[in-house]
Amino acid sequence: MFKKLLIANRGEIAVRIIRTCKELGISTVAVYSKADKNSLHVYLADEAVCVGGPLPQESYLNIPAIIAAAELTGADAIHPGYGFLSENPGFAEICKACGIEFVGPSPETMVLMGDKAKAREVAVKAGVPVVPGSGLIKNAKEALEFARKVGFPVLVKAAHGGGGRGMRLIEREEEAETLIVTAMAEAEAAFGSGEVYIEKYLIEPRHVEVQIIADKHGNVFTLGERECSLQRRHQKIVEESPSPFVDETLREELYKAAKKIAEYIGYVGAGTVEFLIDKDKNFYFIEMNTRIQVEHPITEMVFNKDLIAMQIAVAAGEEVDLSQTSPKGHAIEFRINCEDYEKDFRPSPGRIRKLLIPGGFGVRVDTYIYEGYEVPVYYDSLLGKLIVWGENRKEAIKRGKRALSEFIIEGELKTLIPFHEKILESEEFLKGNYNTKSLEEAILPRILKASS
Ligand code: ADP
Repeated sequence: MFKKLLIANRGEIAVRIIRTCKELGISTVAVYSKADKNSLHVYLADEAVCVGGPLPQESYLNIPAIIAAAELTGADAIHPGYGFLSENPGFAEICKACGIEFVGPSPETMVLMGDKAKAREVAVKAGVPVVPGSGLIKNAKEALEFARKVGFPVLVKAAHGGGGRGMRLIEREEEAETLIVTAMAEAEAAFGSGEVYIEKYLIEPRHVEVQIIADKHGNVFTLGERECSLQRRHQKIVEESPSPFVDETLREELYKAAKKIAEYIGYVGAGTVEFLIDKDKNFYFIEMNTRIQVEHPITEMVFNKDLIAMQIAVAAGEEVDLSQTSPKGHAIEFRINCEDYEKDFRPSPGRIRKLLIPGGFGVRVDTYIYEGYEVPVYYDSLLGKLIVWGENRKEAIKRGKRALSEFIIEGELKTLIPFHEKILESEEFLKGNYNTKSLEEAILPRILKASS
C-alpha cells in the first residue's frame, strides 16, 4: 500500500480523498493555488504545497509544479479527483515515468476513452448500442453529409468536450453548415481540438450511468446505476440511485453492456459508463468517464462501500471482490452550488457568514466550506453535496426535505438549497417521472413563475 498520496485537486473532492487516506493510514499531500491557501483541504492534509497562482492553468493544471511537489514530498501516488488533470493521459504518463502511481486507468485507456468519437467505436466493437451518428469528423462538409444521413435534429459534439460543454443542437438543414463551422471553431478554442462527431438528437431521453470498478487482476464489477436526468444545460443537478425508471430487465442489460466495454478495453480503476435511454427503454452508450464522478457518493450509500478506498486499493495492485455485494435502499444527491437560480444560475461566490450543516441518520454532506470561509471566484460553483439515504425512495425524499430545511449557508453568496427544496415538491420528481429536459422545460419555469 502507498505511504504518501498527493491529491492533485481542490474543493470537496480533495477533502473527500484526504478523509479516506486518513482512514487507510496513508499520509496526504495537498497542493493548492494562491487563492486557496485558506481552503479546508490545505488544513486537513498532512503536508501542503503551493503550486502556483489562482488560475487553474497556473496551479491545478500546472503539471511541472504538481510533479515537483510530489517529488519534493516523496509522494508515491497521485489521486487526480475529477476535472483538472483527471482525464489527462499526458499527466498519467508523466506520473508513470516518474515512478509515481496515478490513481486511475492507464494512459492508453485514457486516450481511447477521452476521445468520445473513438469511445463510440469501442462500444460498437464491444457489441454495445450507440446513438446513431458518425465517427470523427475533420471538416464541415463531411459533418453535413453525416447530419443529412442521420436526419435532423442532430447534435454536433466536440470529441474532447466534457462537463456539458462542446455540444450544439442543429434542428434544421438550413442552419446546419453555419452551426457546424461554429461548433468546430468553438471546440478548437475550448478543448484545443476542432474534431467533432455527429449524434442523432434523442427527444427527451434519460441519462443513466453505470459505476464500474475493475482491478489489475482482470476482475470487473458493476456497482449499480445512477439516474442523472435532472440537468440544466447538460449539467447534472440532482442524482439518485437506483433509477426510478429502470426496470430489472433493462438494469441487467445496462450492467452487461457497461461490463462488456470495460472488459473489451481491459479497464482498470473506477469508471462510469454513461447511457441515454429513450421512452421505449432502448439504451445507447454515450461516453465513459475514466475517473471518479461528482455523484459517486450515492453509489457508496446504497452499496455501503468507499469508492475512493477501492480506487486506491486497485492502484496499489490489490484484488477487488464485490461478488457478495448488493445494494440496499435509495440515495439522492443534491449539488449545492453557489448560484442564483433566480438570475439564470449566475455564479454567486463570496464569504460565508453563517453555516449550519444538516446531520442525523442517513444524511451525509461532502463539502469544503466552513464559517468565515470566502469562496474564491476562480473555480466551479460546487460548494458541496448533500446526500441522503433511505430504506426506499419515499423515505429518501422525506429525508432530503428534512435535511435541506436544516441546511443554512448565509453570507454574501446564494446557493441552490431553496431551488432543491422546490424540485422536491415537483410532481415530476415525486413520481420519478422525468427526463433530461424536465428541469429546464417544466420544473424550472414553474418555480420561477411561482416566485415572480
Ligand atoms: P459531457 O461529456 O459534456 O457531459 P455527454 O455526451 O455526457 O457530454 O452528454 C451530456 C448530456 O447531454 C446528456 O446527459 C444529455 O442530457 C445530453 N445529450 C448528449 N447526447 C445527446 C443526444 N444524442 N441526444 C439528446 N441529448 C443528448
